[in-house]
Amino acid sequence: MKSFLMRDKKFLICCILTFVIKVSYIHSQTFRLSRPVKDNIQANGSYLYGEPNISNPSYAHLGIDYLIRYDTVFSASDGVVYFVGYNPNDTINGYEPGGAGNYLVIQSIWNNKYLFLFYMHLQKPLITQGQQVIKGQPIAISGNTGNSTGPHLHFELRLGSVNYNSSRSRRNPELWCSIDGMGAIYGKIPNAQNNSRVDIYPDPKPRPPYTTFSYALTYNFNDPYIGSDDVYQENYAFGDVKPGTYTITAQGGLYRRIVTVYPGQIVNADQATLVEEKLISENQIIFSQNYPNPFNSETVIKVYIPEKSYNDNLKLEVYDILGKKIYESEKLVTGLNEIIFSVNNLDCTQSSMVLFYRLNGTNFEPTKKMIYLK
Ligand SMILES: [Zn+2]
Repeated sequence: MKSFLMRDKKFLICCILTFVIKVSYIHSQTFRLSRPVKDNIQANGSYLYGEPNISNPSYAHLGIDYLIRYDTVFSASDGVVYFVGYNPNDTINGYEPGGAGNYLVIQSIWNNKYLFLFYMHLQKPLITQGQQVIKGQPIAISGNTGNSTGPHLHFELRLGSVNYNSSRSRRNPELWCSIDGMGAIYGKIPNAQNNSRVDIYPDPKPRPPYTTFSYALTYNFNDPYIGSDDVYQENYAFGDVKPGTYTITAQGGLYRRIVTVYPGQIVNADQATLVEEKLISENQIIFSQNYPNPFNSETVIKVYIPEKSYNDNLKLEVYDILGKKIYESEKLVTGLNEIIFSVNNLDCTQSSMVLFYRLNGTNFEPTKKMIYLK
């Protein structure tokens, strides 16, 4: 009997693994470009894609900045050198980026559209206009020319249009290339204003002391409007995320996702599985945020109890704002529990309210909050 149960459990884990792999396959993509700098050089986490432009806050920062000093820049794509230029000041002329210093533009193709890759603030281009380049080829030495406060590489993607004034043509490079073996996360937060903060825990990358930021900012709502990806339709993104499981929160916790990143994969946080993905990686009690939240008729809370639990009499309890217990679940079982909390558990005269839920007899799990909207 015991061996049968063991086998059964193994079978179940296999099923869950198959499910997770399938889900992650469906909802993730691979990177389209190679990275234009060496893997030990990070993107600047304190000047993000879509963040208000430092010199003119009514514009957005239309690319990302790599913290490269005077070092080799590599072509992120195959293509042809469209332009090699020098623009010392902020004059914008057609596609010429104001203040870009020495810069070069490589024309490539993605999904039957021209993709223009801009490399700015270079010390010295190593290629000439009209030349063919291949992915990974050295194309420049980075530098600090033009409107730049220190050596770095501003890397910008324009899809479909080369012109500067078409900010909608911009795409977030964090979702196009990554440090080898790392992944990326994206999502879309409904009704998020521009530059709403999106937090991620734990910090997905080791950081030098001068970039302590471990958050993203939303973009593409209102002005300045910049582009979302044609496939992903995101309004926030985290690039160079090391493989692992992360919690993403925004809007004071109303937006909350648990997402697992695999090497080289770009994962949609909004379609990631929740508890299922975590349970295979951690042998501990996992206690999900209810979904949907806020809720109107019913909401689901998932609790995973590992085989060796601290307590074999665990239940889920729901409290109102005055601390009165208004619901207690059946005894939870080992494995995955899905508790459906229905509006029928509430006094029908109640209006919209904040509720709290926790596991009984546990002080190692936080109390979580959910919102009932009448
Ligand atoms: Zn920049």
